[in-house]
Amino acid sequence: MSIDEKLQKHLTSFEMYLKKAKREFEARIKEELKENASLEDFKLMKTLGTGSFGRVVLCQYKDSVKKLLAMKIMEKVNIIRTKQLVHTISEIRFLDALKFPFVIQMEYFFKNNVYLFLVMPFINGGEMFYHLRSNKKFDENLCKFYTAQVILSFEYIHYLGIVYRDLKPENILIDDEGYLKITDLGFCKKIDNQRTYTLCGTPEYLAPEIILSQGYTFTVDWWSLGILIYEMAAGFPPFFARDHMKLYEKIVAGKFACPPHFSKPLKDLMVNILQVDRSKRYGGLKGGSKDIKSHEWLKGTDFDQIFSRKVKPSFVPVLDNQGDTKFFDSYGETHIREASFNEYEEEFKDMSLK
Ligand code: ATP
Ligand code: MG
Repeated sequence: MSIDEKLQKHLTSFEMYLKKAKREFEARIKEELKENASLEDFKLMKTLGTGSFGRVVLCQYKDSVKKLLAMKIMEKVNIIRTKQLVHTISEIRFLDALKFPFVIQMEYFFKNNVYLFLVMPFINGGEMFYHLRSNKKFDENLCKFYTAQVILSFEYIHYLGIVYRDLKPENILIDDEGYLKITDLGFCKKIDNQRTYTLCGTPEYLAPEIILSQGYTFTVDWWSLGILIYEMAAGFPPFFARDHMKLYEKIVAGKFACPPHFSKPLKDLMVNILQVDRSKRYGGLKGGSKDIKSHEWLKGTDFDQIFSRKVKPSFVPVLDNQGDTKFFDSYGETHIREASFNEYEEEFKDMSLK
């Protein structure tokens, strides 16, 4: 089979997969979200990451020593104080309802008087960010392997009518086989065919239309994919300035230079994705993601084989055991607060997608 025939065959079978996946997602998101564990069921071990929301802690479920999990602990008062109620509920609902090989999923969810608890499988290879900084940059073959997984994930997420809005190396985890898991669904939003206006994301990864407060759709995710590909291959992002206003000016102007080691096809792809003019940006044109998948830089990338995890990655994290946390920074541990009454009970009663 020629490369073009292979791609065509993949596009047809993936489209069928997406149709079925959409039916499953829509059924799941309508269901009521049930709590299926409680804090006493877990043994907490070590903090893996912290953020504005709270922390993510390595843990075990009951006596199942083999299976390690990551528990995101979010304090209700913090969510309310920072006005993140709607974002948090959608994060939880999407974590529960999205099912895709390269997107993280939730196994347990419960609340107590103080916190919300989201429990996911522990992805032990650490953040792509960690590996990118320690290797300086990735070779183009590894970039293609990762890019393919992000493209497939975005095709899936967008097909469901959801925009992701938070792509960056910190939100991509690498599993023990070297494959990706996109995490942090906090900015996911079901927009279907509507435009949305919210300013959210990470400065270096913001698309010009977000900065300019123009209504936007799925094109912002393709822009962020362009930034990610550039950063993976270069080791630094295409637009950079300490001062955010200066950074935004650069993004909106859309002028960037590729390092001389970028291959010609990669440079060409960068110009086509990092297009300020959305009517010219790959991913958002009539051909959709196919324009990127069939671009010369990705010629020879077997999307079907990657989707079914049959391609052997050129980089696999070396771990001493499943619970090895060497790819995560160390954090101080804080104690879990208790309260004598159920804080913000009303606010968190209805967990349906708004
Ligand atoms: P902030 O809003 O402050 O950026 P956040 O919402 O980005 O926090 P997450 O990205 O979901 O929070 O999680 C923070 C970090 O915890 C991740 O970047 C990752 O290092 C770690 N982490 C999250 N989920 C997992 C997991 N399933 N397995 C291993 N580590 C995880
Ligand atoms: Mg994050």
